[in-house]
Amino acid sequence: MLTLVWFRRDLRLADNPALVAAARDGAVCPIYIHDPEAKDRQGGAGRWWLHHALAALDASLGRHGLALIIRRGPALETLRGVIHETGAEGVRWNRLYDPPLIRRDRHVKQALRDAGVDVHSHKADLLHEPWTVRTGQGSDYRVFTPFWRALRRLGEPEAPLAVPDLQGPLARPWSEPLGALGLLPRIPWDTGLREAWTPGEEAARRLDRFVTDALPRYHTDRDYPAIPGTSRLSPHLHFGEVSPRQVWAATTEADPEGPGTAAFRTEIGWREFAHHVLFHHPELPDEPLDRRFRGFPWRADPAGELLTAWRSGCTGFPIVDAGMRELRTTGWMHNRVRMVAGSLLVKNLRLPWQLGERWFRDNLVDADPASNALGWQWVAGCGADAAPYFRIFNPIRQGERFDPDGDYVARWVPELAALPPRQRHAPWEAAANVLARAGVRLDRDYPSPVVDLRESRQAALDAFARIKGD
Ligand SMILES: Cc1cc2nc3c(=O)[nH]c(=O)nc-3n(C[C@H](O)[C@H](O)[C@H](O)COP(=O)(O)OP(=O)(O)OC[C@H]3O[C@@H](n4cnc5c(N)ncnc54)[C@H](O)[C@@H]3O)c2cc1C
Repeated sequence: MLTLVWFRRDLRLADNPALVAAARDGAVCPIYIHDPEAKDRQGGAGRWWLHHALAALDASLGRHGLALIIRRGPALETLRGVIHETGAEGVRWNRLYDPPLIRRDRHVKQALRDAGVDVHSHKADLLHEPWTVRTGQGSDYRVFTPFWRALRRLGEPEAPLAVPDLQGPLARPWSEPLGALGLLPRIPWDTGLREAWTPGEEAARRLDRFVTDALPRYHTDRDYPAIPGTSRLSPHLHFGEVSPRQVWAATTEADPEGPGTAAFRTEIGWREFAHHVLFHHPELPDEPLDRRFRGFPWRADPAGELLTAWRSGCTGFPIVDAGMRELRTTGWMHNRVRMVAGSLLVKNLRLPWQLGERWFRDNLVDADPASNALGWQWVAGCGADAAPYFRIFNPIRQGERFDPDGDYVARWVPELAALPPRQRHAPWEAAANVLARAGVRLDRDYPSPVVDLRESRQAALDAFARIKGD
């Protein structure tokens, strides 16, 4: 029997349940469909990643004598066409959990089954699927800790699956060239992405280095953006180049009981939680879960000056600007800095969190509808298990605490690198002679803060007080 394996965000051969099941039934035809109707909210950096991840997947399939078939068009029609051309009797895929994609997949499954095709979907992208983690009353979770406890009670994740023996179809169907998908930018802004990342399953084996080198200290190092203390697996996980089960198994092998492992697994838990919340609240990327925030008095920024300053890393708050420039250059930002930069946008600049969500969506290589939306609603204080709105990060204190030597700022805001470390987080407070010695002319080499921290903090609290009683 020939089975089509429809690759989506599971761009790997190892621990791929759909692929394993298809290979057990006989020959396999791997296919990727660029579906213009899919509302998968992919931004520019994600499309760049996808292009290279597909090339890497095709190369690994090639080593097993198979080739990735690339097609463009609505999923159902395209699958029907390839079934017709190849005589395939089955279709398998690994499930995704974004609500619009669930709707599409349901429709595709039903229509193909009605036509007599043997269709199956599999669990591969999460440890436990969103509908399997339930409260005692049978409802979904809005708070992380009980969610995580309930998920852990469902048992240890299954062991990852090995790459199966693969056999291709007798005649290979035609394929569009990868370039025809138009995923790469027309204006080449991707130099920094190329320098920072190698997409693909092989590169996702950075997991092995991470568990030996950084996992034992993860719980202490993870908050310091100048240290390579986190795994940087997020884009690899988003595109399914490594599975959460593989991540889990690697931590069990390296250091099952260590504090680094416990802290790291909790973050994998936040990823599960984000998918759980999005599944149960499809409005998550657009609407605040706390309905009071629908009437929040955001600041008017008619010329978009504040938003532009934030996006371009020119707010005058060095830790924020460093993060925004890291994002623009590499497509990634350290989690601590995502929280601080997000807080400045939503609280001190008082601009809607959705603007930050969109910017991150377009610029992050790990942009994920669930984790990005959950992250922004957390920062804005309106989401599931969110930071309370009145907890407003002070970017100077955050910089001093989590970038104590100013190394992160020096790397991404080089115009401040010659300042003594203590002054790098608040250059406007440095004495004139210190600035002169470092060659920093405020408002020429580096901007003054776009808002007064104390006043804007108070204005944010006042705005919050206005919706609190609603
Ligand atoms: C405003 C904001 C937006 C965010 N947008 C995204 C996004 O689009 N995509 C994304 O994957 N993460 C997002 N995060 C979560 C987090 O910042 C990144 O997952 C993390 O920085 C990725 O780096 P890492 O792989 O080195 O993480 P590690 O610390 O090594 O963590 C391991 C893995 O756990 C998961 N993870 C860690 N923290 C979180 C979290 N808070 N929520 C959900 N999953 C988590 C990721 O898959 C990550 O790769 C966002 C956080 C904030 C505050």
